[in-house]
Amino acid sequence: MVGSPTLLRGFGGSPALKRLISILSKLRHEGFKRRKLFCPRCGSPKLKPYSPLDGWLTPSQYVCEECGYRGAIVLEAEEA
Ligand SMILES: [Zn+2]
Repeated sequence: MVGSPTLLRGFGGSPALKRLISILSKLRHEGFKRRKLFCPRCGSPKLKPYSPLDGWLTPSQYVCEECGYRGAIVLEAEEA
């Protein structure tokens, strides 16, 4: 594998790539954490996925059992 170390060192020296790698590793790291969803209107965590018949055409939506909010925009937080 002659040449590989030089290649890696060359890539590692790129600030843009370094940033990309850090972003990717951060995303992957966060992917392991449990996410909790909250209603953006009342802050309740009682959100249920809302699946209309044509749900496959639209982005996933959620329904708040507390205030009846329905939409694709929800608050997302890491579970403590
Ligand atoms: Zn709500």
